[in-house]
Amino acid sequence: MTDDPGARFSEFLSRLTEALGPKGVSTDTQEIEPHLNDWRGRWKGSTPVLVKPASTEEVSKAMALCAEYGLAVNPQGGNSGMVNGSIPQGEVLISLKRMNHVREVDVLNDAMTLEAGVILTRAQEVADENGRLFPLSLGAQGVATIGGLIATNAGGAGVLRYGMMRDLVLGIEAVLPDGRVWNGLRGLRKDNTGYDLKQLFIGAEGTLGIVTAATLKLFPKPAVKETAWIIVESPAKAVELLQLAKAASGGAVTGFEIVPRFGLDLVLKHVPDVRDPLPSSADWRILMELSLPRVEGARDMIETLLGEAIVRGIAADAAVCGTEAQKAMVWKIRESVPIAERVHGKALKHDVSVPVSRVAEFMQRGAALARSMAPGVDIIAFGHVGDGNIHFNVTAPPGVDQDAFLNRDGLKVTEAIHDLIVSLNGSISAEHGIGRLKRDELAWRKPQVEMEMMRAVKKALDPDGRMNPGRIL
Ligand SMILES: Cc1cc2nc3c(=O)[nH]c(=O)nc-3n(C[C@H](O)[C@H](O)[C@H](O)COP(=O)(O)OP(=O)(O)OC[C@H]3O[C@@H](n4cnc5c(N)ncnc54)[C@H](O)[C@@H]3O)c2cc1C
Repeated sequence: MTDDPGARFSEFLSRLTEALGPKGVSTDTQEIEPHLNDWRGRWKGSTPVLVKPASTEEVSKAMALCAEYGLAVNPQGGNSGMVNGSIPQGEVLISLKRMNHVREVDVLNDAMTLEAGVILTRAQEVADENGRLFPLSLGAQGVATIGGLIATNAGGAGVLRYGMMRDLVLGIEAVLPDGRVWNGLRGLRKDNTGYDLKQLFIGAEGTLGIVTAATLKLFPKPAVKETAWIIVESPAKAVELLQLAKAASGGAVTGFEIVPRFGLDLVLKHVPDVRDPLPSSADWRILMELSLPRVEGARDMIETLLGEAIVRGIAADAAVCGTEAQKAMVWKIRESVPIAERVHGKALKHDVSVPVSRVAEFMQRGAALARSMAPGVDIIAFGHVGDGNIHFNVTAPPGVDQDAFLNRDGLKVTEAIHDLIVSLNGSISAEHGIGRLKRDELAWRKPQVEMEMMRAVKKALDPDGRMNPGRIL
């Protein structure tokens, strides 16, 4: 191996191309360009090469070569991540998109094994085609991949009933930074044979290795989903409604999302083909979904519980969706809030969680805090109120340069919001992860002993620090 860095890199490229074939390697700037920008256009990256392996063996060969040449690696799936983790900062970029095969569906074991590049909507279809449900669902499901969803421990809308990605993974296959392959694709519900290593890779954001495949849990398909759009006067009423709905439905609530009137207005303004399902001047809407095993009695159940909520003053008004088109419409409204918000302008984004019992307090105190620190801001607080995860976003005040606000005064607002979250026993990153965005903050917010344990794990699996450097740790 030569000492000249340019010649060394050329040698690396030619060995990589020999190992993966020309389809597996690209230095074409036009092909690379879309991989270098995040979906909101906030961050920009660079890479000398895009690697496109089509199999675990090819990932292994690429990783072994990166190790030999001492090159850092950035894995990428659908590039829909929210925390500036998926865009390369000069590292070798490994896209898993070509690894998109269904390896196995084991219906009797309620499990399916998919490669890392399978898109979430395809995973949902595969489950459906086999008479089962894969319950993960989120706004980026048309682009987010199984590997990325595992790496970020994604959440989304069904968490209160089915849990996060961490709860949906039975086994994984991963390629370690030195190129070794770990086949942990076990479809077991019970396996007490030492450390549960797969959990290390879930939520690791690609800092420990590359996930190449996973065995995922499947669930019975509900016979019917009853969906309602409900007007409530406050987040406190929303939490009361959640308790009522859980009790009345025997725990069948699979979606409980809050949308503020301002967020709805933005969707109506910026997103085509949506209309307000239940016009009202009240400040808050709830999208509630029940997943039930029998059609008989399902409509009665949701109507009765909503009737009780109105009589008791918990809900102001409600409409049960009568058709699949109506259900699709209310979900479209909910999922379009971040998209409409992006068109509206840049915003400080806080992906935070608190115990459900403290959601209302957080929303009230958080809004007052942001408004006192930056008069004139709009607050778009929406999301998974059913599991205590609120996306608490704050727009720049009118007349203030958006980038300047985000990068200067806004930082103080974020720190104050996160202080509030910590004081309420919450998390500063509920489901989007840490990436490069929250890395510095994590270091001083987490207890020292916890940071030391995380660094020890990183050192053990990636001693040279080549996997996604600068993310999380
Ligand atoms: C409109 C919108 C709505 C969203 N809603 C939600 C939501 O409700 N809940 C939620 O949790 N998230 C949400 N997200 C965030 C995002 O969709 C998730 O973080 C998703 O899991 C990212 O998957 P991806 O394939 O796009 O991964 P990428 O963005 O490509 O990568 C994310 C991270 O994982 C690493 N990575 C990717 N693939 C692998 C792999 N195979 N092995 C190891 N590391 C890997 C990357 O290096 C990066 O650090 C949303 C995003 C958008 C754009």
